[in-house]
Amino acid sequence: MKIIESVEDIQLWSQSKRGQGQSVGFVPTMGALHEGHLSLMRRSLSQADVTVGSLFVNPTQFGVDEDLDAYPRLLEDDMNKLADLGVNVVFCPEAQEVYPQDFKTWVEVPSLAQHLCGASRPGHFRGVCTVVSIFFNLVRPTWAYFGEKDFQQLRIIEQMVQDLRMGVNVVVCPTIREPNGLAMSSRNAYLSPEQRENAGMIYQALVEMRQHILAGETQADAVLSKGRAMLDKAPGLTIDYLEVVDYNTLLPVSCVEHAVIVAVSVCLGLVRLIDHIDVKEI
Ligand code: AMP
Repeated sequence: MKIIESVEDIQLWSQSKRGQGQSVGFVPTMGALHEGHLSLMRRSLSQADVTVGSLFVNPTQFGVDEDLDAYPRLLEDDMNKLADLGVNVVFCPEAQEVYPQDFKTWVEVPSLAQHLCGASRPGHFRGVCTVVSIFFNLVRPTWAYFGEKDFQQLRIIEQMVQDLRMGVNVVVCPTIREPNGLAMSSRNAYLSPEQRENAGMIYQALVEMRQHILAGETQADAVLSKGRAMLDKAPGLTIDYLEVVDYNTLLPVSCVEHAVIVAVSVCLGLVRLIDHIDVKEI
């Protein structure tokens, strides 16, 4: 596996692969790799001629009070995992390589970024869109793989790719979960064994709310009350948001008439976790 840290080198490498007629798969991550990340890598390895995985804790998507410094960094472990899978290149630049001193450009999709996670994390999706744009310009991938778990991020990136005609095919990969239903996340490493067990309630509540809708409940408030009651049973868990949103616009709905997503963000101690479930069969 080739380790590339400079923007020039990743550009040259990708250019040469494309020049040889090879397709390039790209999986951007912030590292602390778990099975969710690895499932994206495997998907790329099965589809593209060559696969680039990036490990970059992107400072611009963290707010001032957030966990940038504390975010887990396990570069060596991550590289071993990627090498074992057969990933061709790991791109792991330093922050100043990605954001030189005279950096001034930002990319954002405001209408999709104001609600849900955007409401409590102003500027987060602007940081995500900007770094993904930079990386797409460097790697020029044929396919880029993103997890459905971060569905708001995914929608925003799909919109950005469409609007800016980036010519990258976004491949959506399903959420990988722990046996108790907890969606895998790098932040799960901060949970105590007890918190991890209690966090299983997040997915149980989502499944219950989905069933309630499929059984004919059309009032979002009624669906949400059911979910809140379940989440309240998990010790130490506080709800940041719990919403039923339109599947396409991501705006909250009061009456469930079309495809929706039930989205949740909770805190367990200091750890913020997100998850969602879709209800498309309406
Ligand atoms: P992150 O390192 O958190 O920025 O995530 C990098 C990529 O992995 C994003 O496309 C995420 O949506 C995806 N991802 C994170 N957790 C999971 C999971 N549990 N299942 C599938 N994909 C995931």
